[in-house]
Amino acid sequence: MPIRQLSETMINQIAAGEVIERPASVVKELVENALDAGATRVEIVTAGGGLNLIRVSDDGSGIPEKELALAIARHCTSKLADNIHDIRSLGFRGEALPSIGSVARLSIRSRTASSENAAEIGIDGGRVSAVRPAAANRGTTVEVRDLFFATPARLKFMKGERAEGSAIGDVVKRIAIAFPAVRFTLAGPDRSTLELPATEDSPEGRLRRVAQVMGADFPDNAIAIDAVRDGVHLAGHVSVPSFTRANALQQYAYVNGRPVRDKLIAGAIRGAFADVLPRDRHAVTVLFLTLDPAIVDVNVHPAKADVRFRDPGLVRGLIVGAIREALAHAGIRAATTGAAGMMAAFRPGAASYAHGGPANGHRSYEAAYRASGFAGFDPARSPQRPLDMGSANGGFGEDEQAAFDAGPLHSADARAGQDQAAETLLGTALGAARAQVHENYIVAQTRDSLVIVDQHAAHERLVYEALKNALHSRAVPSQMLLLPEIVDLPEEDAERLAMHSETLARFGLGIERFGPGAVAVRETPSMLGETNVQQLVRDLADEIADNDTVGTLKERLDRIAATMACHGSVRSGRLLKPEEMNALLRQMEATPGSGTCNHGRPTYIELKLADIERLFGRR
Ligand code: ADP
Ligand code: MG
Repeated sequence: MPIRQLSETMINQIAAGEVIERPASVVKELVENALDAGATRVEIVTAGGGLNLIRVSDDGSGIPEKELALAIARHCTSKLADNIHDIRSLGFRGEALPSIGSVARLSIRSRTASSENAAEIGIDGGRVSAVRPAAANRGTTVEVRDLFFATPARLKFMKGERAEGSAIGDVVKRIAIAFPAVRFTLAGPDRSTLELPATEDSPEGRLRRVAQVMGADFPDNAIAIDAVRDGVHLAGHVSVPSFTRANALQQYAYVNGRPVRDKLIAGAIRGAFADVLPRDRHAVTVLFLTLDPAIVDVNVHPAKADVRFRDPGLVRGLIVGAIREALAHAGIRAATTGAAGMMAAFRPGAASYAHGGPANGHRSYEAAYRASGFAGFDPARSPQRPLDMGSANGGFGEDEQAAFDAGPLHSADARAGQDQAAETLLGTALGAARAQVHENYIVAQTRDSLVIVDQHAAHERLVYEALKNALHSRAVPSQMLLLPEIVDLPEEDAERLAMHSETLARFGLGIERFGPGAVAVRETPSMLGETNVQQLVRDLADEIADNDTVGTLKERLDRIAATMACHGSVRSGRLLKPEEMNALLRQMEATPGSGTCNHGRPTYIELKLADIERLFGRR
């Protein structure tokens, strides 16, 4: 066949293959256009999972009648002047409308503020109709019917009405989070109506929009993030570590207001939470990055959801640093979900109380407990061997131990002093210890609440924090292996490990190349004791391959430290004296991040006196 120029429709259908993957992509493009036009209201109607009908109406600037034909022509846009490095709108490629029009039946009805009446144009599987007059208010309504009727092959890949319909819901929610001042509605015979009333373009307004989308309990369990580094601004919210999900779907990221799915951002979030979450739990996050458009490239893929940062290290460092700092500042703060669930559980079958209904009172407790990350903790994964903490890090943990070894008070004076001290303790965050029950739970009292502490989980966290400090403040002691252990690996992995050997050495792992496709390990960190070197090295190679930054190696060692801390801490079952209990509470107050254990479970639960009184019908 001789070379020939493809027809306009063919070219558009080829582009549609990338731009319009499924009905949700159409919704995304049309909503982006409405927002670029300055809309304050966006109404979306779908039928048949968007395959039969998608209609998006807005009250934006509208399209002048004489530009309607251009709007559906390829490579025609009102958004890009001459500089591809200065993109401030969601759209810029000028290919969404012609792409949709080449695979579906598209019509656009629009009216600008300055024109008396509206005009309409249609494009049907690539065939354009003449512009005709129409009746409409200011703004634009775009209707798409019979999506993919012109490309039946693509139609076969659709997942069914329900799945496509819910993908549309996700797209709308994702974009709505970035535009809190815009009112969105999503309705149709194929769904229950989603209504997102306008809030405002402020941090509070944004959080209210997030709550509309993610549920009212998110703000109660969220920590604000706000940080700037080298002109890059990061704002938003992340969940406290006891408020997690089994997947990362509730992690929303925006770059200059554009929803993105970015591996770098996802990796940074994982890194920031590595300390406080088990690997299979995920924080809920909403993060907005704002930076000079010239230092981020959005022209990576036609769907515009991928970005490339000129300085990925800067962005990663900013995200990891800001989240970690916010987590540390948030200090003691367990998820309210735990306490709320507990309250619900106290009232099995109660018809009117708080969060659960009569039917789900107990279930919601379980759900809350699961949400708190408990299910992610697998004791079987912890090493069996007890560790010699002392020799591992040069006397770590003496303070903690001393607190636990303090003798009991005997004299009457001392007792009086103790009572007085207890009185002042009521004013502290975790209060005065009153009792230990079931040999693991410290019951304490503040002025207006009852606090229950899981002593094992809490102490484990304290040990972990101390261990981590030792790890990062000086080189970690290592032990020589009698015989170097040879680990066979894919050549790329061996190469990567060798490249990072200096860092590994700092953490006590002595590693060097051993011919092609192998490394020799001569030393291991002594705090690991007798470890499975093969597994350790392979895991490290995977880590480096996944993230290829030195930072993540530290995070990995932090995780190892977490596992060790589990074995170096006060076991449940140990009876504590009052002073020991109070010492533990004070240390928790002083230690950032001690509100959750290393597995993301809360270390304590606080019940407000007011809530307890309500349980007893006193309020
Ligand atoms: P892009 O958004 O990349 O410019 P599109 O094909 O999505 O490309 O849209 C083409 C043009 O049509 C836009 O540049 C804009 O001028 C106009 N347009 C599309 N939708 C709307 C709308 N809802 N309101 C106002 N103008 C619109
Ligand atoms: Mg567009």
